[in-house]
Amino acid sequence: MPASSVFMRPVEPVHSDKGFTLAQKMVGVACGVEGVRPGAYCEPKVTTVGSQDTTGAMTRDELKELACLGFSSDLVMQSFCHTAAYPKPVDIKLQHELPEFISTRGGVSLRPGDGVIHSWLNRMILPDTVGTGGDSHTRFPIGISFPAGSGLVAFAAALGVMPLDMPESVLVRFKGEMQPGITLRDLVNAIPYAAIQEGLLTVEKKGKKNIFNGRVLEIEGLPDLKVEQAFELSDASAERSANGCTVRLNKEPIIEFLNSNISLMEWMIAEGYADARTLQRRIDAMRAWLDDPQLLEPDADAEYAAIIEIDLNEIKEPLLACPNDPDDIKPLSEVAGAKIDEVFIGSCMTNIGHYRAAGKVLEKMGNLPVKLWVAPPTKMDQHQLTQEGIYSIFGRVGARTETPGCSLCMGNQARVADNATVVSTSTRNFPNRLGNGADVYLSSAELAAVVASLGRIPTVAEYLEKVAGIQPMAHEIYRYLNFNELEHYQRAKAS
Ligand code: SF4
Repeated sequence: MPASSVFMRPVEPVHSDKGFTLAQKMVGVACGVEGVRPGAYCEPKVTTVGSQDTTGAMTRDELKELACLGFSSDLVMQSFCHTAAYPKPVDIKLQHELPEFISTRGGVSLRPGDGVIHSWLNRMILPDTVGTGGDSHTRFPIGISFPAGSGLVAFAAALGVMPLDMPESVLVRFKGEMQPGITLRDLVNAIPYAAIQEGLLTVEKKGKKNIFNGRVLEIEGLPDLKVEQAFELSDASAERSANGCTVRLNKEPIIEFLNSNISLMEWMIAEGYADARTLQRRIDAMRAWLDDPQLLEPDADAEYAAIIEIDLNEIKEPLLACPNDPDDIKPLSEVAGAKIDEVFIGSCMTNIGHYRAAGKVLEKMGNLPVKLWVAPPTKMDQHQLTQEGIYSIFGRVGARTETPGCSLCMGNQARVADNATVVSTSTRNFPNRLGNGADVYLSSAELAAVVASLGRIPTVAEYLEKVAGIQPMAHEIYRYLNFNELEHYQRAKAS
């Protein structure tokens, strides 16, 4: 058999004098060049690698095949978020064995109950660097990651590089001002909504059109987002079938995020997380960046497969993904009145602000007309929300609070009732993921909390009335976990 029928030959990209996009520059730096053109084969340095528990055993076996006794990638992290809440015996065995396997090779192992992989891994990443991970939602809010299968994740962890055919990019540019009652999740849903209106995305499976498929989604126009918020945008690039995502941020939110993360990692070292040398190395790298904070910028004449502009002034009501397709976006007014059986507030799409906002909406409620599930992404969120009395609201309204982690989002742990109609803050609403025959709407936590209070999807007027109490307290509610300002983490570190 001729070799050409077995191997795909690399195709040199057409020469261009144009500039580079942000993603092309990030990958370029990781390859030691200014930028990498779409279609070019490259092997970027992989600075951060994430492994989660449902593919962790396969990654471990691949690492054994590679005879890997020490990771070349600078930081490899293992989580247990997919199986922590209701582990089977096989999961318990993995939870006992895998941490040592990872940490003796220089990786960092989390513990069952710590929380969702991304909510931790994002706190260990460095600006403008490249990473990968075995979970399809490994989508860095700063830098860029290209999620991969367990074999490639093992390869990247062991060798510190990964093979990559550089994808083209699609630019999404936000402009205008956020309107009252509109949340980041609505902006997440605004991306496919705008693409549908421009004929770049279709919902119908047959002959489906998807401009994002296999490309890098590059987002700009929201430079002052906190990094936690930026992750909502990058996380959902998985639902767009994009290969990766960049979010262009100003230095200030990144400086704030890194200062917080240094404190978290120092606390981890004090708490006995291994490998401490790897955590310390990452702390040192963050400090080095903070000493001279520089960010890559896309060139003005960079080329994109498409440019989608979204005017925030025109988004005047929440947008939901309807059953059962994350691309099937409709404005709230089109689905108002639908009866809802269960509501889930959780997954890597949430952060602490969402739970405070939900608590604000529910604070005067008694028993709810729906079953409400609450699963914060990390144990740090759970701890802080308990300290602030938000958990007491969830307890009073009869919510079922779950172990921090993926919970209902993963579909392999607790599940909603068969054929339930659900509003969820999770990432995807593919058929049967949250429960057998379930119909699932995806919305913001704020809207989900309003739905929980009513047992149905509200009208726009009802929604705006119920969330009116959030805006005056927005500064307090959407306050993120700055570990360098939280006494609990400073105290443990000092002792
Ligand atoms: S919360 Fe859901 S999308 Fe996020 S890592 Fe867990 S299972 Fe994946």
